[in-house]
Parts: sequence; structure tokens; C-alpha cells
Amino acid sequence: MRIARFSIDGNVAFGAVEGDKPDELVLDIIKGIPFADFELSGTKVPLASRDARTRVRLLPPVLPNKVVAFGRNYAEHARELGNEVPDAPFAFFKPATSVIGPGDEIQYPSFSQELHHEAELAVVIGRMCREVPRERVKDVIFGYTCANDITARDVQRREKQWARAKGFDTSCPLGPWVETDLDPSDLTIQLTVNGGQRQLGRTSEMIHSIEDLIVNITEAMTLLPGDVILTGTPAGVGPLNVGDEVAVTIEGIGTLTNKVIKRG
Ligand code: MG
Repeated sequence: MRIARFSIDGNVAFGAVEGDKPDELVLDIIKGIPFADFELSGTKVPLASRDARTRVRLLPPVLPNKVVAFGRNYAEHARELGNEVPDAPFAFFKPATSVIGPGDEIQYPSFSQELHHEAELAVVIGRMCREVPRERVKDVIFGYTCANDITARDVQRREKQWARAKGFDTSCPLGPWVETDLDPSDLTIQLTVNGGQRQLGRTSEMIHSIEDLIVNITEAMTLLPGDVILTGTPAGVGPLNVGDEVAVTIEGIGTLTNKVIKRG
């Protein structure tokens, strides 16, 4: 099931996305929150409605307490930036305030001259968990969405900790929705800028599997429902400029599109 979070006529709701053609998608509004038991209300709204009262705006599909991002998890990407392939997974944080949704604007920050895109498969956690054994990892996953780990590459090189380089406002686009029924082990992951392909990889190229990553991080900390794990980016990262439209597409999920603007 594809589960979207959206606003309609001043209210925020979750809905199950139904249909196949982009122009004909319908949201069946969910009663309650999708992490617990929930029911579909049967009340349906078209995603592309032009009527002001029923106009839908997709929001970030979850509001995470934290985004845990793993670095250098595709060998070719580690090499393209001149880095060693790490023996063990290593994580950093992107704060909740960095998250934006599909169609929201990435604001080019004033302290960087080298903003980069990084297409990533995002894992959404469905239940509170700690010290998760490998064989239980699938039980704590709610689903999957697309992410763009926007990075101020010049700042990342300059500063030892990546809090500013990877944690600034709008640096974590997520969406367009969460797909809950998906085998994530071998999906095409692709990124375009203004329609031209920049990144292309497969999730099967990850060095450390999703199981490895969740075992690794939950050794250290509790994950909460709605927390997001970014699983690393394939090769092909590169610059974004003001005015660019950047789109992450993951097989079986959909496309996350955002435009880059100058921070006002
Ligand atoms: Mg990344």
C-alpha cells in the first residue's frame, strides 16, 4: 500500500494512494494514524483536484523524530569522492527541521557554493525499537520512500562534523509517499536534474544491507515510529544550481521532485 500524508482544506490527513495513472490518483482517507491499526474511511479525494476546497497538497510522508543517514554505502560513490570504502557502517544525523515534502523548495543556503544531490532509498520505521536482531528487522520497518540527501559539499570538506553541511533547513526532501509492500533488495534508483540523468544505481549495490544498518544504529539508540534511515547514495553525485528541478525515482515507489531556490 502507498500511504501519503497530505493537507486538504486546512486539515492534515493520511491517505492510501489508489490508481496507476499520475493524473488519476485518488487518496482514500485513513482513520487514525498509519503506524497503529487503521481503517480506510472510504472517503476519496483526487490527488490532482483543481477545486479549491478539495485541493490536495502532498506533505512529507512522515514527520521523523530523527533522520539517521548512512554514508559511503555504495563503493563507486565512495571512490568518486576519493574516500575509502568503510569496513563498518557509519551514521550521521539530519535534523527533523531539514525535512521537506514532494514539490517543496530546496533553499540554497548562503554559506555554501557547492550544493550536491544524493538520491537515496529511505526506510521508514514503524515501531519503537532498540537492539533489533537481524531476523527481526523486517518487523520494525513500516515502508520505503525516496530521499535526497542534499549536501553542501564544500562545507562538508571544511568542517569535521557534518551538522551544517547535511543538516541545514530543506536538506532532506522525502516522498512522495511510503510504499509498505516492497522488497527493497534490488531496486533501480535514479536521479535527474532538469530531466537529464545524473545518478543510476541499484539498491543491490549497497555495501551494508538494510538489516546491517538497522542492527548497527539500534545497538546505540531507540528508533521511534516515523524515524527515517537513509541508506546511502549510488555514484553520480553532482552540483545543483538555483532554478534546477531535481527528481529521485525509485522502482516500485515513485518520483520525488523538488526545485532549488535561493534562500531569501
Ligand atoms: Mg548520503
